[in-house]
Amino acid sequence: METERVKCLIIGSGPAGYTAAIYAGRANLAPVLYSGLQPGGQLTTTTDVENFPGYPAGIAGPDLMEDLRKQAERFGTDLRYGVATSADLSTVPYKITIDDEKIIETDTLIIATGATAKYLGLADEKKYAGLGVSACATCDGFFYRKKVVAVIGGGDTACEEASYLSGLASKVYLVVRKPFLRASKVMQERVFANEKIEVLFEHNAVGLYGEKKVEGMHLVKRMGEPDEQRYDLPIDGFFLAIGHQPNSDIFKPYLDTDEVGYILTEPGTPRTKRPGVFAAGDVADPHYRQAITAAASGCMAAIEAERYLLSKR
Ligand code: NDP
Repeated sequence: METERVKCLIIGSGPAGYTAAIYAGRANLAPVLYSGLQPGGQLTTTTDVENFPGYPAGIAGPDLMEDLRKQAERFGTDLRYGVATSADLSTVPYKITIDDEKIIETDTLIIATGATAKYLGLADEKKYAGLGVSACATCDGFFYRKKVVAVIGGGDTACEEASYLSGLASKVYLVVRKPFLRASKVMQERVFANEKIEVLFEHNAVGLYGEKKVEGMHLVKRMGEPDEQRYDLPIDGFFLAIGHQPNSDIFKPYLDTDEVGYILTEPGTPRTKRPGVFAAGDVADPHYRQAITAAASGCMAAIEAERYLLSKR
């Protein structure tokens, strides 16, 4: 298989990957970045980004990512299309196989492969993507001021998103498939004390309807039980909060992850347990998952990579 040797390999092209590339490029590390399956990452699927500092009028997600891509390119990053299909981090140089056809050997590796929001798998989620369906309340909640929204899920994320949205929307339905919440007690109490949130236990959302955008959801109460009930509920926004899946599978044999798969790093740093291997952005962040926090950790990873290489001279 064709093999190429580089000093700094970045995998992923979201805010973490591109920011790492900007810093690594400016530090003369001649970074090579592989964009992954979705060049630009999760932000390419959102409309307006209004919370990224520096854009008082907001910016479209794809435009922000295009700007970051150009900025990374300006400082000499070798940007390539391709997906990391396997990894061997047992010895230095680390070896990453791209598209099962080429091996990149690298002294430093920045893993910025992100996380993928889980969806229910309904055809309507795709049909109404960007038209009322969202997997990020912090990103899109603002568009639902004084409107009615539903949040799907019963974990901490769902409770947090429902609480956040209740500050904007006129009404929030929390659609929970079990007869109880999985979220921590304090989150549950917050939800139950909030007059704007109505928890629909033992409910499954099975579809959406609406002329051009979401106007309502099809619900099933006590699905599969003798007293099953089907009905429709008008809503303007449908927010998925059933968990994220970090894209860390190929690295798991070599790095520590939590039970979900988030890569564990030294607290407050992007350092993994392998020297010269850093994890930045959502692949290592179950808590904040924001473009700006991903960008910040990408910056930290590039600075760490530079210092690591200096220490090896
Ligand atoms: P969780 O896995 O904890 O919860 C997912 C929720 O979605 C569960 O209620 C689950 O239901 C539900 N769900 C999953 N699949 C489906 C489906 N197909 N249909 C309907 N419902 C579904 O994920 P979270 O993202 O909430 O949390 C991930 C981790 O991050 C947790 O450890 C959490 O504690 C942590 N976290 C902490 C926060 C904080 O402390 N502030 C904030 C956010 C997250 P069921 O219970 O039936 O399986």
